[in-house]
Amino acid sequence: MPRMPSSRPDGWKCDLRLPAEALAYRRTIPELLLPEGLGKINVTAWLYLDERGDRNVKVNPNITIAQIRQEFGRAPTRDAETGIHSEGIAAQFFKENPRYRVLAIFSERIPCRKMCGPMLRNYFRGVPWFYYYDRNSWRGNDGELIRRAADVLSAAYGL
Ligand SMILES: [Zn+2]
Repeated sequence: MPRMPSSRPDGWKCDLRLPAEALAYRRTIPELLLPEGLGKINVTAWLYLDERGDRNVKVNPNITIAQIRQEFGRAPTRDAETGIHSEGIAAQFFKENPRYRVLAIFSERIPCRKMCGPMLRNYFRGVPWFYYYDRNSWRGNDGELIRRAADVLSAAYGL
């Protein structure tokens, strides 16, 4: 089972189906479980109510599957915080499907301060965020600061 993610606001409990679905998504593409894939790709999973009142989860990475395949043939320079962010892609989906009501947003990395954070606060006001990796605050088991997303995600998912 994945670890309980951190939350904004503090102290909220995440429906663990969200990180479980994000991990299940990674398992469909073997590269996404390797350190390079953990660093380059950020997976987001949003809990929402559909028009029948059922709870569903929408999962997506920061780029398309076709791009993921291409990406792993290249030099390992790109990071998940460049390009189109996964939260932006998910937000677009919910903007196009206004009958779905978003209840919770899980993103492996905390939504970025420059783009996604302000966008989520504006368009999905009051929806809690859950995340594993915040470059500024993650501590390991011995209190040491861990700066690499891949290390944080490996620990959180038990890889
Ligand atoms: Zn972002």
